[in-house]
Amino acid sequence: MNIMVTNDDGIHAAGLRALAEAMTELGTVTVVAPDRERSAVGHSLTLHSPLRIFELHRGWYAVDGTPTDCVNMGIHNMLPIKPDLVVSGINHGANLGDDVTYSGTVAAAMEANLMGIPAIAFSLATFEPGNHFTDAAQIAVQVARQVIAHGLPADTFLNVNIPNCPRDRMQPTLITRQGKRSFIGKIVDKTDPRGRKYFWVGSEEPRPDDEPGTDFHAIHRHHVSITPLHLDLTNHKSLPILSRWTF
Ligand code: MN
Repeated sequence: MNIMVTNDDGIHAAGLRALAEAMTELGTVTVVAPDRERSAVGHSLTLHSPLRIFELHRGWYAVDGTPTDCVNMGIHNMLPIKPDLVVSGINHGANLGDDVTYSGTVAAAMEANLMGIPAIAFSLATFEPGNHFTDAAQIAVQVARQVIAHGLPADTFLNVNIPNCPRDRMQPTLITRQGKRSFIGKIVDKTDPRGRKYFWVGSEEPRPDDEPGTDFHAIHRHHVSITPLHLDLTNHKSLPILSRWTF
């Protein structure tokens, strides 16, 4: 097994180290990750500036680009052969519901999926320091084993969220659907020491839905949540409605 590991929290993140170390149980690991934190960059690709690779030590590479750049560079320019599996994370903070569209962690798995490589995004559901990355990495190995054993359905990659607690306190793994959060959209508006206004986005806890079957519902009850995702954003239910319009 050749496993490529990436993230969006950057090459020095604790979650990346925990994931890369745990994955050595399953095969040869190559880490290709952003040289700094690139959270919430989504699926962005660097098109208008060059990219550079820095080898930190054997099998560990930093790229001065986005998570999507790392997957691209890793697969096309760096790894001697195409990896059998791409894992992204373990992100510091959950990626639940609509937030998957902002996530660089999820986008890295999406990029691998576009290249036809099985891919999994892992996130630890906390922003608190002093967290359970080692426990989460053991869950990641468990999920990766299942992916290796069964393969993934066509056009599918996995978004895995792990509760922030010791492994023996986690509830059983649930297969979930993507939930919705009611976006409060509050932006903090203050004045800096030089008298200029500044604004700070995303400073408030989102108010998620709590419908059974969703990723939010599972994580709030300390279950490991696995949501199968795909890239077709078409709203299939709306096709017959819109096709009645006249142009
Ligand atoms: Mn992140």
